[in-house]
Amino acid sequence: MRDPRADFPILGEPVHGRRLVYLDSAATTQKPRQVIEAVADYYRRLNANVHRGAYDLAVRATEAYEDARAAVAAFVGAPDPRGVVFVRGTTEALNLAASSLGRLKVRAGDGIVVTAMEHHSNLIPWQLLAQERAARLEMVELTPQGELDVDGYRRALERRPKIVAFTHVSNVLGTINPVAELARLAHEAGAVVVVDGAQAVPHLAVNVAELGADLYAFSGHKMLGPMGVGVLVGTPELLDAMPPYHGGGEMIRTVQDTTATYAPIPHKFEAGTPNVAGAVGLKAAIAYLGALGMAEVAAHERALTGYARERLAAIEGLRLYGPEERAGVVSFTLADIHPHDLATIVDSEGVAIRAGHHCAQPLMRRLDVPATARASFYVYNTREDVDALAGALEKARALFGYARA
Ligand code: PMP
Repeated sequence: MRDPRADFPILGEPVHGRRLVYLDSAATTQKPRQVIEAVADYYRRLNANVHRGAYDLAVRATEAYEDARAAVAAFVGAPDPRGVVFVRGTTEALNLAASSLGRLKVRAGDGIVVTAMEHHSNLIPWQLLAQERAARLEMVELTPQGELDVDGYRRALERRPKIVAFTHVSNVLGTINPVAELARLAHEAGAVVVVDGAQAVPHLAVNVAELGADLYAFSGHKMLGPMGVGVLVGTPELLDAMPPYHGGGEMIRTVQDTTATYAPIPHKFEAGTPNVAGAVGLKAAIAYLGALGMAEVAAHERALTGYARERLAAIEGLRLYGPEERAGVVSFTLADIHPHDLATIVDSEGVAIRAGHHCAQPLMRRLDVPATARASFYVYNTREDVDALAGALEKARALFGYARA
């Protein structure tokens, strides 16, 4: 992969007088100037509200928005751009899925299956739905290595749930779930499959058609794109059958006093003024990742993660969580130093990592820790970044009195 670091202006911004070592891309990624420029250029030259105007500028803004939709569809292998719904992010996509699928599919006593490695955004919407419908929410457990217990999953499917929702890649453990196999098993049991792809689309070549997910969610800001734009990809047949989520302008065909008919997909799910600049920026991010090559991006992260595991495992008292085979996320604890203290100390060295429950409290309970520290990697990270992290962690050890005699 070519070295893209010169494209990221923020990497030149010092932190505590030091070089920024940004290791929190699982939370949000930095933006290359190509994306920053695309957003600025949209506002400079194209801005108008979409789908409503008869004038030239509105037509061109609409074209830019719909071009972005086509780019997203091509990037994730969605056969039909009508299956690409723009939302604010993964969280909104999954709330849309739960609310709409819930009304379409779920009655009292029906089953919904999730896993113990879900981010809260792929758990709380299903909890809310289960409570509202008096449905049964079941959580599939993990193996001690932090992989999904596929036997447990099969057992959950024997109870014939209506919906199965799971993450493609864990934001804590980096576990990569075998989505195609899990989706096939769920379909055999008659369930609709919803996948949280927030940590997958930025890092792996994803083809939603090959994976067989019925609904697949991800966020632009985790893949070099702007904040506030994300995607729910669905099969057009399912989206057609699903009732609307938000009501308002843009999503209607005709409106009577007490009823309305709705616009065709995807507009049925896009009430109100959309984030056009966000979609345009996401298209630029996709072009950028496409030019780097997703296979190269994945290989770069794999190599870096392997190196990080090796370097961190050599630190006395450091415990790594999650399986060997994984995406570019490394969670760890160091002796009994609280992960927040750890993050603060390494920050003073210019190293940005995250500490906390990572919006995955059920998983933290299973790991038997209140929190972990997490380093996550992306296209602009290097072995020197990993060395800087390892060095900063050694300093933290020394500071807390764990220095070797
Ligand atoms: N799912 C996973 C696995 C995530 O890592 C995140 C972001 N931390 C989300 C969902 C939520 O994404 P967003 O905040 O962009 O809606």
